[in-house]
Amino acid sequence: MDASKSSLELKSLCKRYGTQDVIQSIDAKVDAGEYLVLVGPSGCGKSTLLRCIAGLEELSGGELWIGGKRADELAPQDRDVAMVFQNYALYPHMTVEQNMGFALKVQGQPPLVREAAVRDAAGLLGLTELLDRLPAELSGGQRQRVAMGRAIVRQPAVFLFDEPLSNLDASLRQHMRVELKRLHKQIGATIVHVTHDQVEALTLADRIMVLDQGVVQQMGTPRELFDRPANTFVAQFIGAPSMTILPAEGKGATSLVEGLEQEIEVSGEGPYLMGIRPTDLGLQPVDHGPCAVIDLVESHGATALLHLVWGPHRLMAQVAEPTEFEPGDEVGLVFRKVHRFDEQTGERI
Ligand code: ADP
Ligand code: MG
Repeated sequence: MDASKSSLELKSLCKRYGTQDVIQSIDAKVDAGEYLVLVGPSGCGKSTLLRCIAGLEELSGGELWIGGKRADELAPQDRDVAMVFQNYALYPHMTVEQNMGFALKVQGQPPLVREAAVRDAAGLLGLTELLDRLPAELSGGQRQRVAMGRAIVRQPAVFLFDEPLSNLDASLRQHMRVELKRLHKQIGATIVHVTHDQVEALTLADRIMVLDQGVVQQMGTPRELFDRPANTFVAQFIGAPSMTILPAEGKGATSLVEGLEQEIEVSGEGPYLMGIRPTDLGLQPVDHGPCAVIDLVESHGATALLHLVWGPHRLMAQVAEPTEFEPGDEVGLVFRKVHRFDEQTGERI
């Protein structure tokens, strides 16, 4: 088996701190070579889950399997995982080469092996010209690449990234995102990557796991999560700007949205929650159908976001720029696609 690629399996994995259940029985399988992105609000347990996989935290229950072997009883150094943190610290008095080769030196690898591994990783990361520099002589992005390089030289079975790009400025983050994608293609490693950045999640992931309060809300491809969110939490968490959710009452072929008197041509049965993405709301001249008033036009360059007031509710519609719409305009609404959720549980209907 290729040692630089391994599957990862979590079986009823739990983590408690005192009385707080931070991770509540997670079952998940990550295939060898898969890029899994973990998202969720701050404090939901993302870092804790990574630390459990890395062996920096002991499990409170359940099992961890890496490459088909039980791993939760192994010491961190025996798990064959490498973690890259948001606040990666390089050794300031060591060169790039020494920083990258340090873990191999600790392992007792001979100098020739170390040099070869560092050279290969440096080539992958575009650091070849910088091997003799000290961290203080590098840009933020270069330092971040050295931190990645330290993980890569170890050829771990699984890479764990905890918000590795969030300390970088926007353009560098975009650049590193592309680099990461390329790197994953080249080395085909198994990666679990935590981020709070939507674009990062949607562009890098083979699959995304959405976590809320230590519970998996949904795990699937970016497309699946966007097109068929399992519940209102995922619906509002994935996709920016966020989906609007309104209480509605289905009347068969039509629905009545709470607080409005006119039935709209959206089918449904009984009370439910209606979810509408800004990209799924079409506009047309006002006729006999539902109509709203434009409150604000927010230009995003190629597109504009229209903020609409619809009776007691607010909606958003994304349109192409240049747009002729102006605040105060009345527009007819076309519901191109709506999502329906159970009004009690929030689960997709
Ligand atoms: P995230 O990375 O998703 O923002 P964390 O995994 O860091 O969240 O934290 C999840 C929860 O666990 C938080 O409520 C946090 O306060 C708590 N927590 C994390 N580490 C510890 C610890 N060592 N001791 C006690 N509580 C902790
Ligand atoms: Mg965290």
